[in-house]
Amino acid sequence: MRYVSTRGRAPALDFAGVTLAGLASDGGLYVPEAWPVLARDEIAALRGLPYAELAARIMRPFVGESLAPGRLRALTAQAYARFAHAAVTPLTQLDERHWLLELFHGPTLAFKDVALQLLGLLFEEFLARENSRLTVVGATSGDTGSAAIDALAGREGIEIFMLHPAGRVSDVQRVQMTTVRAPNVHNIAVEGASFDDAQAMVKRLFADSQVTARHRLGAVNSINWARLMAQVVYYFAAALQFGAPEKKVAFSVPTGNFGDVFAGYAAARMGLPIERLVVATNVNDILHRALSEGDYSVGEVTATAAPSMDIQISSNFERLLFDLGNRDGAALAAQMARFEKARAIRLTAAQLGGARALFASVRADAGDMASAMRWAWEQCGCEAIDPHTAIGLHAARSLTWPDGVPVVTLATAHPAKFRDAVERATGFRPTLPARVGDLFGREERYARLPGDYAAVRAYILETATPL
Ligand SMILES: *Cc1c(COP(=O)(O)O)cnc(C)c1O
Repeated sequence: MRYVSTRGRAPALDFAGVTLAGLASDGGLYVPEAWPVLARDEIAALRGLPYAELAARIMRPFVGESLAPGRLRALTAQAYARFAHAAVTPLTQLDERHWLLELFHGPTLAFKDVALQLLGLLFEEFLARENSRLTVVGATSGDTGSAAIDALAGREGIEIFMLHPAGRVSDVQRVQMTTVRAPNVHNIAVEGASFDDAQAMVKRLFADSQVTARHRLGAVNSINWARLMAQVVYYFAAALQFGAPEKKVAFSVPTGNFGDVFAGYAAARMGLPIERLVVATNVNDILHRALSEGDYSVGEVTATAAPSMDIQISSNFERLLFDLGNRDGAALAAQMARFEKARAIRLTAAQLGGARALFASVRADAGDMASAMRWAWEQCGCEAIDPHTAIGLHAARSLTWPDGVPVVTLATAHPAKFRDAVERATGFRPTLPARVGDLFGREERYARLPGDYAAVRAYILETATPL
């Protein structure tokens, strides 16, 4: 399998290449050259497989020659052994129609573990083969940072520098990052910065030739194709349990950077019968406006109780626009250049029509979110759900559905990760699972740096081991 850039000018790479590269050199994102399609009997034959085995089968065509089949199976087995539930991503029933797909049984209690636990192993594997090393730099509003740090701590040939906006992540999220003792982990709290400011510094590092001359930089956010590939698996896992390919399932996905729901789109392109993919947003609703009216225009970011969805520019939306725009890299590059300049574009008729055939979108405000949390708690046998999941559930419940179609909301974080917001809505304060240990009893370790690029850059150049 080869991967091409959405902007049409970067060289095509194999799976190992796109995993280590992250962003394409023309500023675009890598997508598979063609979607592998599974026939109905091939999908039916996947029923009943253990999660790690299913993962290896779904990933096989995407990985191609980059990993031998036995090696891929060994890596998925190792990654998913770290999950606290035998099913890895179990389903829970709420009522006759609505279900939750619990994606938070990994080490850091959010769905990002599903992909990052595997990505850490893939990095290590591909770097060892090239006898190379990788300096991972990332910015986080919380969940990506803790999941990436857990996945990369102690891995050979890798150092990770994770920037978070000082004082703007939850206490659980902060201690999950800063109490990890591995010497290859470096946390940076950037003072006076928002997530977008920290993200902009990371982008500058990737474009800084003095940095890239000394370090091979790697990316752990969802611009990295390997993350999306790993997320395709749980759409299959859930749908197979409801009787796919004979029966259709709908999914509602709490959405920020459009990575998780794009994995659902990939599953549909691979032949999984999906009734609809619901893009659930909070008041940061650029994707809802884009999918309902074709208006993709950046607004102000508003901080909410679901911080992982407080995003205006959803990087992975570019992958959808490319696929629905006849895969014309030159046209997409021109469209994205207009977007970067004007901060606003209209979707073409083909893009909007193609999106409407599969996607629906719903915007939830703070009241909608709190009432969805209360509904799950009061009506559904004391099911505590986190604010992100609540936005997905609100969206799922506010649409009308054909008879007999199960609607699965992706439960993207454990409620204890956002226990203050859950307690405000329901009166119930969820407790952290015993397996995360006594997070608050450990010593925290991080650098506090002023919010300017020069300080962050100097710190990384002084601390990181060069190539
Ligand atoms: C990252 C995250 C999301 C958003 O996922 P995207 O792939 O960025 O759309 C939703 N919920 C939680 C809890 C997250 O951590």
